[in-house]
Amino acid sequence: MGENNLSFLDKVLNIVKDERSEDKPLIEFKHPKELERILDLDISEGVTDQELEECVRQVLKYSVKTNKAVFRNQLYSDTDPYGLSGAWIAEAFNTSQYTFEVAPAFTLIELKVLSHVLKLFSIPDGDGIFSPGGSMSMLYALVAARFKAFPEVKSKGMRNLPEMVIFTSEDSHYSIKKAAHWLGFGTENVKIVTTNEKGQMITEELDKAIENAKIKGQYPIMVNATAGTTVLGAIDPLNYIADVCEKHNVWMHVDACWGGSLMLSSKYRNRLLGIERAYSISWNPHKMAGAPLQCSLFLVRKKGLLHEANSASAQYLFQQDKFYDVSYDTGDKSIQCGRKIDAFKLWMIWKARGDLGLSQLLDNVMSIAQFCQQAIAKRPGFRLVVDSLQCPNVCFWYIPRFMRNQDEDDTWWDIMHKITPKIKELLTLGSLLMVAYSPLRHHKNFFRLAFSFHPKIDEKQVLGMIEAIEKCGEEITLDMLQ
Ligand SMILES: *Cc1c(COP(=O)(O)O)cnc(C)c1O
Repeated sequence: MGENNLSFLDKVLNIVKDERSEDKPLIEFKHPKELERILDLDISEGVTDQELEECVRQVLKYSVKTNKAVFRNQLYSDTDPYGLSGAWIAEAFNTSQYTFEVAPAFTLIELKVLSHVLKLFSIPDGDGIFSPGGSMSMLYALVAARFKAFPEVKSKGMRNLPEMVIFTSEDSHYSIKKAAHWLGFGTENVKIVTTNEKGQMITEELDKAIENAKIKGQYPIMVNATAGTTVLGAIDPLNYIADVCEKHNVWMHVDACWGGSLMLSSKYRNRLLGIERAYSISWNPHKMAGAPLQCSLFLVRKKGLLHEANSASAQYLFQQDKFYDVSYDTGDKSIQCGRKIDAFKLWMIWKARGDLGLSQLLDNVMSIAQFCQQAIAKRPGFRLVVDSLQCPNVCFWYIPRFMRNQDEDDTWWDIMHKITPKIKELLTLGSLLMVAYSPLRHHKNFFRLAFSFHPKIDEKQVLGMIEAIEKCGEEITLDMLQ
């Protein structure tokens, strides 16, 4: 292939269009060893473009078609088509989001999107950065909180600092544990606060836990509130948490990776009231809003802090005697050196749809989730985990006929615990539906159907998903669960 010849890309575009078409199955599931035999993965000898095309087709044939409505396995799903265009453009123009000189337009775009989002989250004077995901944003939050309390940590490390503790709810995302390990706090210093039945942090418990830590001489460094928990979609009582944080003078972070998209709608954003009191916020447009992976934002109330906390002032890259205004070299706010142009994907989406278009997409998602929740509530054999809908997560069990009208003792629930994954297996092997399941606290394995902006899902499709679960559920016998 010639250096500047994009003919292979044209071919690839056609393959992608074919493989994303209606008639393709969601998944042709093969176990790892079997798939390894089918695919021609050896890379020791080069192949012709034609052969490579065949290889690509094979790879995509066995890849999950996440653009289909029946892909409900994760919190991301199909991409917004404008976002996908943005992703391809950003790849083709291959540059790094660190200095104005190599990314002039993209730098201004990141700043513009950040300021728009900061206004939306009611911290207009704040700052922010695009990061490669919510887990990374959690690292940013902890680094910012620690730096704010103990700026000397940057040069001297943790020696001579008090033992620091972090507070989060039992339903919150696991990334906080990883971050606590990576940053040297230790996972034992992540204090778990209990939640109510709806999955929301119990504020009185948080208050008590902070008091306890103080009595022990520990330093409460951050409270992580969640706006949209990963499984139930619960929104912690942000205003109450903000009160507790204020009382104890602790950094309040809101993990709005999932639920942050509710801010896009004037109808639903009041569910996140109190978020404007946070010191930092994370939001993943790559989940509900359909920005291509990865696209996550970390926002911070205090301007300048990101730069102060993270800068290393590398002289070969961030020279201060450049010929242009170097305040536009924003890369030193980041932990990364090379950084992808993630902002452009979100900018393309927003530019095409505007505030109103995004607001309507969010309203659609909430109304289809409501429909799903109501359909499940009244259908025999289905049982909701929580009655109320906070984010577009619908969580439920399917109880096959042979399990109904029995004593729901521990043995019964142990069987239910095996039934849910078995139904999932049948759904996947039959290419009917890919759906998430999870246990949670005392709850045995249940399903989570979560909805996102793309593709737009109608009521008929939701009923189809419910019927598929029912069909596979009725195929199950006790023998299959051994
Ligand atoms: C998904 C998720 C994260 C992690 O985001 P990644 O981009 O997958 O790293 C963090 N918090 C919540 C609540 C999430 O749902």
